[in-house]
Amino acid sequence: MAKENFILLRGVIKKKPKFIGNAEENTIKEAIFKMTVIRRDIFGRGNSFEPKMDYPIVSTSSPEIIRQIIDLNLTEGDVIEVKGTYKTKGIEIKCECPNCHKINSFSYQLNCVSPQFVQRMAHFDTSAEGLSYLKNHAEISNICKVIGTVCVSGENFRNGESENGDSFLKYKIAVNRKIKEFDSVDKEDHVDYPYVCSFNDVAAGDRKMLKLGTMIYIDGFVHTSAPSIGVLCGECSTEFSTRVQNMNITPYSVEYLRDYIDNGFEQSPEQTRE
Ligand SMILES: [Zn+2]
Repeated sequence: MAKENFILLRGVIKKKPKFIGNAEENTIKEAIFKMTVIRRDIFGRGNSFEPKMDYPIVSTSSPEIIRQIIDLNLTEGDVIEVKGTYKTKGIEIKCECPNCHKINSFSYQLNCVSPQFVQRMAHFDTSAEGLSYLKNHAEISNICKVIGTVCVSGENFRNGESENGDSFLKYKIAVNRKIKEFDSVDKEDHVDYPYVCSFNDVAAGDRKMLKLGTMIYIDGFVHTSAPSIGVLCGECSTEFSTRVQNMNITPYSVEYLRDYIDNGFEQSPEQTRE
């Protein structure tokens, strides 16, 4: 089966990477940092200059890549290039109740970029210089290409309208891993489950063509946001909200490869094999 899970980011890092574990004892288990990247289309409606930024999280448990990141000694204002894959992982988020201060926790799907290669390209002392560099590299700053299979049925697709009045469709896909992740637990772990959010014309095509099991090729970018999530305190039942980091894939285009709805006639897997 065709596999693709490719991300290329060229962007500025805002803060030094965080290392989990102890550097002196050589027990660093994870390196994690956030990048500022820019989307390909830097002009909005009416050709006005409206650059759109995304802030993907890059995280790795691979000792080799952790070593590369340590050796680069990355610092605020560095422009780096990352080649990696889209990775999803179940994590526990902890947050403090504002009323009784009990630490509540809930499970959440972390969406991040797992790097296979990191290099420093430039350094800028001011964010204006960094922005100007990104503008000139918008074409290669935020690229995501995946082949995936829709893993929710049509009634679970989410239709909606964004704040800017763009219609969208949100659905989940399963993407098989090409590269074995260092922290894979077993065979079941060799799949990532990103959400895809398509807009306007692309969303209209998706509504017509997609169903559970459709295999698609997405040419797009990683789209990040920081939504508020409602939490109910387990101790005092106070409702409060906490911010989480989220990332989806937004397609520039979607190719329908297999098992799609074709003019109302659903292709069955048997027909495709002929
Ligand atoms: Zn409480």
